[in-house]
Amino acid sequence: MLSPHRGDGLRKRGGSGVSSRVSLTLRLICVSVLALLSAAVQARDIRIALTFDDLPALSIVSEQAYIDTTNIKLLRGLKRHHLPAIGFANEGKLDEGQREAQIANLKRWLDAGIELGNHTFSHESPNTLGAEAYVADIARGEPVIRALMADHHRRLRWFRHPYLETGYPAPVKAAINGWLAAHGYRIAPVTIDADDWEFAEPYDDAVAHSDFEAQRRIKAEYLAYTEKQIQWSLASARRLFGRDIAQVILLHCTRLNADSIDDLADLLARLHLHPVHLAHAMRDRAYRTPDEYDGMDGINWLERWSPTLHKDLPDTGNEEPPEDIRKAYDRVDQDPGR
Ligand SMILES: [Zn+2]
Repeated sequence: MLSPHRGDGLRKRGGSGVSSRVSLTLRLICVSVLALLSAAVQARDIRIALTFDDLPALSIVSEQAYIDTTNIKLLRGLKRHHLPAIGFANEGKLDEGQREAQIANLKRWLDAGIELGNHTFSHESPNTLGAEAYVADIARGEPVIRALMADHHRRLRWFRHPYLETGYPAPVKAAINGWLAAHGYRIAPVTIDADDWEFAEPYDDAVAHSDFEAQRRIKAEYLAYTEKQIQWSLASARRLFGRDIAQVILLHCTRLNADSIDDLADLLARLHLHPVHLAHAMRDRAYRTPDEYDGMDGINWLERWSPTLHKDLPDTGNEEPPEDIRKAYDRVDQDPGR
């Protein structure tokens, strides 16, 4: 509404004292209107929490230097783009590498001002362990991160279920939920799942073989797929709630994300997604909707809320990753963990 031409015209009219004062007043009004418009645009931005699982890293390359570089690059990228985040750790991974170096990687996240959460010790599913062994695995997954958090004057409070499997059948889920609540944990939900783990392992393989063309292609496919998944989640939220809600995206601590963080930041900005802390995103009243799903699949929270709210999600747009990526993943994967 306030074009540069109009602004130029106001300046040209300056001359006499009265018209100068009028001009100044108009300019102040223009500045105020622009500030209000800018605030309105920001208010329209959709909040999104970035959550990274499987710290210290999800990688098929086991060299400690590779894991360390992944963490350093990812954290530098988050800092460069001022992206709030949270990292969910598996303490069972500490002894898969050099323990002190792995702990140093967790400390890097806290030193960067990023909170840590518990993702269980061994990344096993509650469906296979049962409630008792699963909560024991959660308890075993917290001593190191709890101590590191205390060193940084933070309290451990967030839990993320591996595979997004929350316990089956219903009594198992209820027992796990009861234990988590009694131990001061909040469950970190997920509304956007772009299967980044499936792209990340072929990407590690491409890095290990210095195959730069494959790295470029996997990154491009990953970003295109992530955009599609985000669009599906945005459309799904509008179906369920009749408005945009704060979103929570599931990512992993991988070399792929470390090398893609500039592109991911650009993608979020282009889609008007504004990164915030997880606790901030969860202030959205949508997260008061109960999770009543008691099946065995690891589905996201939009899918969980759909039957509760008696609203269907869009039929199309929630697709599998491209076939070449799935085939490449099956070729290089050594462990079904993600
Ligand atoms: Zn995980």
